Amino acid sequence: MLSYRHAFHAGNHADVLKHAVLVHCLHYLGSKEKPFLALDTHAGAGLYRLDAKEANKTAEYRDGIARLWQQTDVPAALHDYLAAVAACNPPGQRTRYPGSPWLMHHLARANDPLRFCELHSTDLALLRRTFDSAGRRVRLEQADGFEAMKAALPPPSRRGLVLIDPSYEVKTDYARVVAALRDALRRFATGTYLVWLPFLPSVESRALPERLRKLPAEWLYAALSVRGPGSGPGMSGSAMFVVNPPWTLKAALEELLPWLTEVLRQGDGARWELLSSPDNA
Ligand code: SAM
Repeated sequence: MLSYRHAFHAGNHADVLKHAVLVHCLHYLGSKEKPFLALDTHAGAGLYRLDAKEANKTAEYRDGIARLWQQTDVPAALHDYLAAVAACNPPGQRTRYPGSPWLMHHLARANDPLRFCELHSTDLALLRRTFDSAGRRVRLEQADGFEAMKAALPPPSRRGLVLIDPSYEVKTDYARVVAALRDALRRFATGTYLVWLPFLPSVESRALPERLRKLPAEWLYAALSVRGPGSGPGMSGSAMFVVNPPWTLKAALEELLPWLTEVLRQGDGARWELLSSPDNA
């Protein structure tokens, strides 16, 4: 049974990296006329309250999005992300944080189909409530996101963005991410795939970046550690692995990663890394 709830982590340093990359990619896909499918395989609740008891149990957002709100010299590469976060809040407030489905719905166009998968019944109910009036353009499913990729790809328009954002509470998620991506590339080689991965002490977590980087595709790997790997329990950082990245993404990451590392650092050992596939260096 799944127990992970993203409400306890919304707006943390990992969400900042993940959602800044997602927003950049959504903007890029939306700059071309042809519609694209946006598929969120692990959707969560869609929208989070930062004044709720869940978000304040460990208050991870205070060392994430809230730190960005205190800055005045935000690089241009983060402006669209911060504008999207502001748009999900009532004017003058900072009490909400958008999940990936909210960002997809906000930035996709009226003719871009959206498909969100979520297995946890509590978060699925919240997701349904968030998109209650969104109409037929949004398809919500209580479905295994890895399996849904098989049915959804390739999209009829042959343009698509897939966010693969498991909680990794089940150890098999590590292998499933690699297998699902390999299968998806066979079905839809030109899709843009965004995989989120945590930096945890487990063997599986430490092996995942290299397993992804061996996939036969053009990719970018952007990592942000807020502290050294052995400096305490839990997640010391995270990365985004982007297959078929927009050509604009590398320059944006070169601008935002050093800045984010300084703003989000939680101790010695904070660092960033940006790698490209050999053909894309
Ligand atoms: N993508 C969300 C965001 O950025 O706002 C956060 C998603 S959270 C990290 C992962 C979610 O995946 C959890 O809500 C969990 O219940 C759900 N989940 C876990 N395994 C799943 C699966 N096989 N298929 C679909 N959802 C799953």
